Amino acid sequence: MAKAIVVGAAGKMGRRITQSILQTPGMTLVGAVEREGHPAVGKDVGDLVGEGSVEVVVDSDLERVADKGDVVIDFTAPEGSLRNLELGVRHGCALVIGTTGFSPEQMDEVRALGPQTRCVMAPNMSVGVNVMFRIVADVAKILGEAYDVEILEAHHRFKKDAPSGTAVKLGETIASALGRNLEEVGVWHRKGLVGERQSTEIGMAVLRAGDIVGEHTVIFGGIGERLEVTHRAHSRDNFAQGAVKAAQWVVGQPNGLYDMQDVLGLRRH
Ligand code: NAD
Repeated sequence: MAKAIVVGAAGKMGRRITQSILQTPGMTLVGAVEREGHPAVGKDVGDLVGEGSVEVVVDSDLERVADKGDVVIDFTAPEGSLRNLELGVRHGCALVIGTTGFSPEQMDEVRALGPQTRCVMAPNMSVGVNVMFRIVADVAKILGEAYDVEILEAHHRFKKDAPSGTAVKLGETIASALGRNLEEVGVWHRKGLVGERQSTEIGMAVLRAGDIVGEHTVIFGGIGERLEVTHRAHSRDNFAQGAVKAAQWVVGQPNGLYDMQDVLGLRRH
C-alpha cells in the first residue's frame, strides 16, 4: 500500500490527483498540502474534491506531514517544487513532480537533488504524449534535414508558463534526434522582417484561450507536403492517472531521477 501526499491539492491538477488516489486500490492518501494562506488550508481534502470526508486535513507545510508518506506528488510551481524536492530528500520520500516552467538554473538543481531520492519528473504524464515523444524522434530522423520542424501548443487562459513544458520537451527530443541543440536552434518569437527561415530552426508557437486542456502539434514541413503529429488532451484525468501510476511505480525503484518514459517502459536502451 503506497501512502501518498498531494502538494498543490486544491489546484486544477491537485484535485484530480487527489480524486484519482482515493479511487485507486493500493494507494492511500495520507496528506494534502496547499500554500500558506490558501482558503483550502484546514479543510478536509475529501470534502474539497467532492468525495466526502477522508479525515485528511489540508496543511500549509509539507515538513509537518512528510514523514507520514512514501511518496509526494507535486503539481505546483517551480520554486515550491524545488523546496519540496529538497524536503523529500531529507525525509526519504519518493517524489513525482509534474510542475513545468523551471528555468535552466532550476533544472540544474533538480538534476543535482533528484538522484538523491527516487524522483519522477515529467512535463506531461499522459500515455499519448509520452508515445508522441518517442515517435517524433523517429519521424525527425527519417525525414531528416529536408523537413522544417515547427511546434504548436495551445492551452487554457490560466496557464502561467510558455511555451508548455511538453512543447519544450518535444523540441529537445527532436533537436537531439537531429543532432541539434534546442538552445541554439529554437525560435521562440517571430515578428517583423525576420528573413527567411533557416533550415535548422525549430520554431515554437503558443496559443492561450478559454479552457483548452492541452494540445500539441509537431509539423514536419517539406516542399509539396507536410506531416503533422498531434496530441489533444480531452480532460486532466489522463495526467492525473499518469501521476498516480508514476507514484506507484517510483516507490519501488532505486534512487534516481526518472521520467514517464521509464514509468511506461518506453525508454530505448
Ligand atoms: P493550478 O494553479 O490550478 O494549481 C497549482 C496549485 O499549487 C495551486 O492551488 C497553488 O495554490 C498551489 N501551490 C503553489 N505553490 C505552492 C507551494 N509552494 N506549496 C503548496 N502549494 C502550492 O495549476 P495546475 O493547472 O494544477 O498546474 C500546476 C502545474 O502542473 C503547472 O506547472 C502545470 O504546467 C503543470 N501541469 C503538468 C502536467 C503534467 O502532466 N506533468 C499536466 C498539467 C499541468
